[in-house]
Amino acid sequence: MQELTHYIGGEHVKGTSGRFADVYNPATGEVQAKVPLASTDEIAKAVEIAAKAQPAWAATNPQRRARVMMAFVGLLNRDMDKLAEALSREHGKTLPDAKGDVQRGLEVVEYCIGAPELLKGEYTDSAGPGIDMYSMKQPLGVTAGITPFNFPAMIPMWMFAPALACGNAFILKPSERDPSVPLMLAELMEEAGLPRGVLQVVNGDKEAVDALLHHPVIQSIGFVGSTPIAEYIYGTGCANGKRVQCFGGAKNHMIIMPDADMDQAADALIGAGYGAAGERCMAISVAVPVGDETADRLIEKLVPRIEKLKVGPYTAGDDVDYGPVVTAAAKQNILGLIQSGVDQGAELVVDGRDFSLQGYEDGFFVGPHLFDRVTPDMDIYKKEIFGPVLSTVRAGSYEEAIKLAMDHEYGNGTAIFTRDGDAARDFANRINIGMVGINVPIPVPLAYHTFGGWKKSVFGDLNQHGPDAFKFYTRTKTVTSRWPSGIKEGGEFNFKAMD
Ligand code: NAD
Repeated sequence: MQELTHYIGGEHVKGTSGRFADVYNPATGEVQAKVPLASTDEIAKAVEIAAKAQPAWAATNPQRRARVMMAFVGLLNRDMDKLAEALSREHGKTLPDAKGDVQRGLEVVEYCIGAPELLKGEYTDSAGPGIDMYSMKQPLGVTAGITPFNFPAMIPMWMFAPALACGNAFILKPSERDPSVPLMLAELMEEAGLPRGVLQVVNGDKEAVDALLHHPVIQSIGFVGSTPIAEYIYGTGCANGKRVQCFGGAKNHMIIMPDADMDQAADALIGAGYGAAGERCMAISVAVPVGDETADRLIEKLVPRIEKLKVGPYTAGDDVDYGPVVTAAAKQNILGLIQSGVDQGAELVVDGRDFSLQGYEDGFFVGPHLFDRVTPDMDIYKKEIFGPVLSTVRAGSYEEAIKLAMDHEYGNGTAIFTRDGDAARDFANRINIGMVGINVPIPVPLAYHTFGGWKKSVFGDLNQHGPDAFKFYTRTKTVTSRWPSGIKEGGEFNFKAMD
């Protein structure tokens, strides 16, 4: 059995707590490795190393820091296949999807190459006689991030790339379910020229997270994961005086207007609802057709597409649409919610419950499901399922559809499919959700914009990546300087007699 490590002080270090978690191959259901769960003392050691390494890194000029990012991009491209394979093996997503995971992180690293420009401060010349005023963006010091299982490459990079580009040290506590890629990323950063100890990976669970939250040297915490944990981390981190941003769960609605191109809408729902087995915070989990006639046409288009979906292990290559979910517990939770949908009266139009794959009977595969006539009081509507399950809620009008999305407690992403510019504009303006797609089902903003939801999908003020990340990972210092007239008036060379 492979025993994974931490990456502390530039070295792979064995865990000393004696506690481990199992890392599965979700396609086979086998335990393929053990990951150490750090103790409070192991976190303290990493923080000590980070605090020693950070000042020299902060003093390295931003252009040189950017060159490390540039070299890192090259290494990510060099090792893309290796990273994707390791990622799929622990997460279960298909290889093209795993490459997308690395790619969307890489794009944020590319954005961070602009650090010299992004970190330029402000300057007012002659704010008063002999007085200049300028603002500096200085790093926070030692920063930390806690990441979820579903994007083990992208989300760590969304955090550590801007943190490091700004001159901070960063301690990453990745998901204990798929920790190998984060460890590989830390190694690659050092190969790219990052000094030892500036980026460290400490594996662990609640004990490690609590140690980070309570350590006085840690200046900021970034978190992405489920809403209850996001709320806990935000509350605890803020109470301890840290700068905190937490991104939580989602229930993303797609509204389909009667004038939408129904083939386009159905294709979009297939990718956005079932891609990555629905384990995306930007997955569409609720389809809201406006009018019964639209709903009937949509279901008619969806069913044959869903029945054609190919579910299988990543090793089957491009021939698979989505893979297994991450753990047996995740599978049980999804199946439990599906049963609740049936019990509470939703119509299960496509039933994937008896899905089984020959040779992979112990894998965590879940067949695709489609519900119709879901109502807002049902658990499958209220809760995040995080599986290949699409719920259809029929709305009587556009107003009813927009109200549905607005009343939901989550507010990560949403989409509208229509040919009507007026409806699309109104939707984008009024909706209380952070990321909006117009005929785009998964509107994940690119690296140079910012990513973040509203409502219970976020706790904190600033979004991830884009200009917000450079605000989150720096603090502003404003200097007012006054220089009374001096040497330029001419030196005094003559011996002056006292008056
Ligand atoms: P999770 O909340 O179970 O775990 C996230 C991280 O928190 C992990 O590193 C985990 O070790 C740690 N953690 C778990 N329990 C903890 C506890 N009691 N105390 C302290 N730390 C704890 O989430 P997950 O299952 O890994 O990821 C899926 C969730 O993440 C979904 O809800 C999904 O919507 C959300 N997500 C949100 C975004 C976003 O940007 N809004 C992006 C990706 C995923």
